[in-house]
Amino acid sequence: MSDTIRQTGESQPTFRFAPSPNGRLHLGHALSALLNAEMARTSGGRLLLRLEDIDVTRCTTEFEAAILADLDWLGIRHEEPVRRQSEHFGFYRQALDRLIERELVYPSFLTRGEVKARVQAYEREAGPWPRDPDGAPLYPTEERHLEAGERDRRLATTERFAYRLDMEKALAAIPLPLTWRDTGDGATGLILADPAAWGDVVLWRSDAPASYHLAVTLDDALQGVTHVVRGLDLFHATAVHRLLQVLLDLSEPIYHHHRLILAEDGRKLSKSSGDTALSALRERGLTPSDIRRLVGI
Ligand code: GLU
Repeated sequence: MSDTIRQTGESQPTFRFAPSPNGRLHLGHALSALLNAEMARTSGGRLLLRLEDIDVTRCTTEFEAAILADLDWLGIRHEEPVRRQSEHFGFYRQALDRLIERELVYPSFLTRGEVKARVQAYEREAGPWPRDPDGAPLYPTEERHLEAGERDRRLATTERFAYRLDMEKALAAIPLPLTWRDTGDGATGLILADPAAWGDVVLWRSDAPASYHLAVTLDDALQGVTHVVRGLDLFHATAVHRLLQVLLDLSEPIYHHHRLILAEDGRKLSKSSGDTALSALRERGLTPSDIRRLVGI
């Protein structure tokens, strides 16, 4: 498929399951994949599979093969071809360049350690530094305005940097309020999006190109996804996706953020929680219907 985004009017409901091949699928992924498949089936829609492997240092072809085997075992049929994000960095870069041209994006040079040191120094004197919905400190806004000569000098001499969205300028460039529609297990109806809660999000890194936010938003539009069905852990990230959709003139899907499957200790399942990996459960003799029962479908 060529990387050209078409705006369509009425379109067939289109769903996607979009795992990252940086670990084994677990019960939480099974719920997501099964819900997507079920909703596609009952609406007469399509089901796409997208491998979100932009982090080429952590994603492997072994994990990719394991994902395909798990989905096959669960009886989930998706359309071909499968989209691999690592094959489309040029497409994401074009969108980034449009944002750079509009001066909505700036190169940022502080390392994680430098941000941490600045936050700690501030908090010793002046109280809590603002944090994003995942608990990470926001990038210092005073870094937005490097003098052009200094910025170019650092771009030429610094190996590691990231392009960040200037949240203030981005919000000034779109009509507000920004909203999305959600039909999931959390808040539903028309949701007020608050992308500013994330501060100046990273859209591109010199070492691991396009960010999740940029790639997911562009691909959902490119692939004509009309319904994004994914876990509630990504609920707040949707605010950033909606902002990028408006800035880049992309279509707006309906969102369905589903409940999470938690580990026995109440924590979120992670790719390293081996005992809930689908492959481990399969080896213990569980069947696909057992998995459906375990995830409550
Ligand atoms: N690739 C993301 C993950 O594995 C999911 C992205 C999405 O569904 O929007 O957590």
